[in-house]
Amino acid sequence: MSHIPEESNTFADCLLGWYDENGRSFVFRGTKDPYRVWLSEIMLQQTRTESAGPYYERFLSRFPDVAALAAADEESVLCCWQGLGYYTRARNLHKAAKMVVSDFGGAFPRTAEALRTLPGVGAYTAAAVASIAFGECVPSMDGNLIRVFSRLTDEAEDASQPATVQRLAEEAKRLMPQDRPGDYNQALMDLGATVCTPGTPDCSACPIQAYCLAAQAGHPETRPVLPRKAPPICVPLNLLMIFGHGRVYLRQRREALLKGMYVFALSEDPPEQALNALGLTGAEIVPAGEARHVFTHRVWEMTLWAVHIDHIPPALEPNFYTPEQMDALPVPTAMRAACAYVRKELHQS
Ligand code: SF4
Repeated sequence: MSHIPEESNTFADCLLGWYDENGRSFVFRGTKDPYRVWLSEIMLQQTRTESAGPYYERFLSRFPDVAALAAADEESVLCCWQGLGYYTRARNLHKAAKMVVSDFGGAFPRTAEALRTLPGVGAYTAAAVASIAFGECVPSMDGNLIRVFSRLTDEAEDASQPATVQRLAEEAKRLMPQDRPGDYNQALMDLGATVCTPGTPDCSACPIQAYCLAAQAGHPETRPVLPRKAPPICVPLNLLMIFGHGRVYLRQRREALLKGMYVFALSEDPPEQALNALGLTGAEIVPAGEARHVFTHRVWEMTLWAVHIDHIPPALEPNFYTPEQMDALPVPTAMRAACAYVRKELHQS
């Protein structure tokens, strides 16, 4: 049984009163257009809210609606996603747009359940779009809502378990106001991002403190209970920037990580061996610095090398690009340091 009575719903009033005064304003707020809501929710999955604005506007100016996105080719979608990382999101966005056009006549499905059939749309995103764009009463259980409700109810079970999240979602839904479900979800997201933060929350500034069991028990920072995360695996890599005839070597990845993106020659083998594997021998290999990129489960620790070759073997011809051509390709942020080196090198020569 919940400790918060539903009848008067003062809980939602306190929360929404606070939101009306203190809610964050972003370029992607204030719209009920499902395409825009969906795009912003996908972008925000792994990108900080503060940094997503310019990417959101750039994407919308290139693909203003779902039909424009569905009609685009994958490479131009990946290009427009550059800088946001997690490119599977962009590929799924593209697939989902095509599905909205082909299976739903160009109009987004209106319920969370139906939205979940779209690629890349999980329970959280489906609930966010359904509540914000279509007014469906369904809580969007992201990390913020899980944290706030774990503390409100002083949940002692592992909050990474579906059964726990389900229990928290039921409580969130029970207290949801029928007239403002989208605002309720966004208010909880904002509360979790600014007041009920991970670590030590600012309970004295919290509009729902009177309802919060973990705060009353004096241990809000112990909720939610989560298992320890394994640290990301460190992968040492040699990155070879191979220059020839004023161009540089890039290859399109087929591996799951960064699939479809263009990268320089990357190898766990020593640079000479990596060069040999491409059929290139005898060129001087010069150290060119180091770079690091953190993915969710791994860290690339890259040692950069510059190689100048006089002759490009015919088989590798299509892999050599001018800096201008390189700029038009989807090259991931992990290559940023090498790209800067390449631009400098090729514009100098
Ligand atoms: S009182 Fe503190 S712990 Fe409870 S919801 Fe508010 S900020 Fe979070």
